[in-house]
Amino acid sequence: MRPYRPRIENGIRPGNARFVWLEGMCGSKPKKAQRVAWLAAFTATSAAFAVAIFLLAASLSRSVPTPDPSAAPTAAQATDTASAEPMPEAPGPGGDAQDRDSSGELGAPGALPGSGVDSADGILPNGATVFDEQYPGVGKLDPALLNALQQAARDSRLSFYVSSGWRSERYQAQLLEQAISTYGSEAEAAKWVAPPDKSLHVWGDAVDLDGPKTKKWLAEHGAAYGLCLAYANEPWHFELRTDAPDQGCPKPYPDPAHDPRLR
Ligand SMILES: [Zn+2]
Repeated sequence: MRPYRPRIENGIRPGNARFVWLEGMCGSKPKKAQRVAWLAAFTATSAAFAVAIFLLAASLSRSVPTPDPSAAPTAAQATDTASAEPMPEAPGPGGDAQDRDSSGELGAPGALPGSGVDSADGILPNGATVFDEQYPGVGKLDPALLNALQQAARDSRLSFYVSSGWRSERYQAQLLEQAISTYGSEAEAAKWVAPPDKSLHVWGDAVDLDGPKTKKWLAEHGAAYGLCLAYANEPWHFELRTDAPDQGCPKPYPDPAHDPRLR
């Protein structure tokens, strides 16, 4: 193997050794007409370039939604709280329909067609809040966690929309399967979805909340209710930390793969 080409062949034939457009860089001054033509060409090119950049910037600012600092990465949302088919009986007693994440489509993580996973496995309709205990996804949450969520929702006067709460083992297994196919490996999927036998969602000890206002409010006041983020890469995933009212929330793990409870 040769590390580099020993000789650069530039293909310039004898008698044709200079590029015509380099003419202006040699000692001789180009004629005035040439200079004017060059200046015009340069100006036109610059203007076209500036217009192109402006148009590109304008189209980018249109297509990219205003970033919400508390919003989750899109890919993460897709896995942890992927959108579901909206169910017709979606309730919403809280009534704060404004406080939804930018996609507006987020609901419970979706069931794979034909998987048989449904509401009894914890899938929630769009708009379900922490007060919708009739759905197993909310009703089977740990009572202490659910109480804290409901108290915080009342005090904040915000609707605490739940995109996912309690999940059955087979639902969690399906989410893990989806994550492995999305991220391409079990190791990468483990950063987003816990295995069914270890998931805090399967135990009813974790809730994924929707809504930038809710997440912002909890970032400021959640500790007083024991409601803390568990993972830095999942700004929607809250768990109950009974020490938090006195000691504040502990530092979140970078991602679930760093969580010793899941090993
Ligand atoms: Zn979660």
